[in-house]
Amino acid sequence: MQQLVFATNNTHKQEEVAAKIEGKIKLLTLTDIGCIEDIDETGNTFRENASLKSRFIYDKYHINCFGDDSGLEIEALNGEPGVFSARYAGEHGNHAANIDKTLAALKNITNRKANFRTVISLIWNGDEYFFEGVVNGTIRNERVGTAGFGYDPIFQPDGYTKTFAEMSLAEKNKISHRAIAMADLLDFLKKV
Ligand code: IMP
Repeated sequence: MQQLVFATNNTHKQEEVAAKIEGKIKLLTLTDIGCIEDIDETGNTFRENASLKSRFIYDKYHINCFGDDSGLEIEALNGEPGVFSARYAGEHGNHAANIDKTLAALKNITNRKANFRTVISLIWNGDEYFFEGVVNGTIRNERVGTAGFGYDPIFQPDGYTKTFAEMSLAEKNKISHRAIAMADLLDFLKKV
């Protein structure tokens, strides 16, 4: 069976993808291949960061692999926080502070348009392929809902009256940026 490394330490993401390609491709974790290094996310775009992750693994372990990078892009803030989404307020992964900073930056701004974006870089037999998913929406004036993570409590996808944080995981997974990008990747993998 073909092997494929998902260059992430996020076990939730890993399990989600593994379940979908079970039986066809063996999905390996970074731990499975003995990779304990932190892979730098020093790129200026999601594409560059996704590529940094997949290339790091491919160059070092010579095995097919993919990496992903996601974030929130707000129109009135010229695409911020973008690649800085996880550390917008300074500390990596401080979601509460990131939301506070976002709401403050958008105070009195009427254009609330935003989108989440995921880019996946797959290296398959030495060639690189990109897959992308976008979900458009608006930023609420305050937090609503408790599910999910990150910016979910302030992001309302277009066509819905609730935020991502008011949706079940199953509901969010049907429309999310990550789900769209992953579906494209899985389509590709089914054909190889
Ligand atoms: P990652 O590249 O998927 O780890 O995402 C980077 C950062 O973007 C996260 O730490 C969050 O701040 C934000 N983000 C990405 N996807 C989501 C999402 O589905 N909901 C809320 N925030 C997200």
